[in-house]
Amino acid sequence: MKSVLSIIIYGCISILSISTLNAQHSFTLMPLGVYGGCDEGNLSAYLIAPVGDTAFVALDGGTIHDGLRAARRHHFFKMDPARFQRQRIIAYLITHPHLDHVSGLIINSPDDSRKDIYGLPFTIKTLKTKYFTWSSWANFADEGEQPALKKYHYVRLKEMQPTAIKGTAMQVTAFELSHAVPGRSTAYLVKSRQNYFLYLGDTGDDQIEQSHKLSGLWTAVAPLLKAGQLKGISIECSFPDQQPDEHLFGHLKPTLLMKNLAQLDSLAGGGGDRHPIQNLPVIIAHIKPAGSNEQTIHKELRQQNQLGVRLIFPKRGKKILL
Ligand SMILES: [Zn+2]
Ligand SMILES: [Zn+2]
Repeated sequence: MKSVLSIIIYGCISILSISTLNAQHSFTLMPLGVYGGCDEGNLSAYLIAPVGDTAFVALDGGTIHDGLRAARRHHFFKMDPARFQRQRIIAYLITHPHLDHVSGLIINSPDDSRKDIYGLPFTIKTLKTKYFTWSSWANFADEGEQPALKKYHYVRLKEMQPTAIKGTAMQVTAFELSHAVPGRSTAYLVKSRQNYFLYLGDTGDDQIEQSHKLSGLWTAVAPLLKAGQLKGISIECSFPDQQPDEHLFGHLKPTLLMKNLAQLDSLAGGGGDRHPIQNLPVIIAHIKPAGSNEQTIHKELRQQNQLGVRLIFPKRGKKILL
């Protein structure tokens, strides 16, 4: 009797501790791939869902299968990775059609199930006319070259218009980014209840790109940061600071990344000793890991973190709670 009672009490405590834990977090983020090149089994792709939910959306699809195998090794799930892809990845949100953001999606498409691919029209156009064609692969989508196999349905997002992601409890708003003019990319603001996560695809700095895309984005999300509703940001940092500005090719480096975070902080009312961005989880994505670049970027970002953001260097297959 005593042991039954203790099991019940212990069970209640465990449930309590799980729910308190969940109450502190809004999103589960699972990196399937984190780099911006060099390693084809570890390229930009992140699963996101509200905490406790198993209906995931993939933010980019650079690496799918290798990432799912890594996630299973880390006990994120037990089932076969291909089955997880079919059943638990409900949709794809693609930031731009560069191969390091879509190759995993394309390669794994024969074994995938029916689902939607979301993107701004420029992304959908390249998927439709360059990749899901019969000369480069097979047309698994529902538009473009015939015969169309109709596994994937293209959803063209309208910029700055919140859209529900079908089959999930999330909503998304797309913002266009500048990525080596005339190249373009996308930032996705994902919403679940009153919580937000901001995922930026590849992006250059406004000054270098002669653009206002990033400052427009910071202006749009600053009120969320101020209100404590922004739970994290994923932003790229492809190169170390020694990379000359003229060779950034539409990417960021530590000084530029920190300059942008400072801009967001000040738009949210930061200044002097007060920094609304302090302790905000900032996931550093898309490092190009040539030579010792990765360690250098980590070091440079830590040295320049006067704002006190919570720097997170994601690892393929290791869950992040936000
Ligand atoms: Zn990229
Ligand atoms: Zn790119």
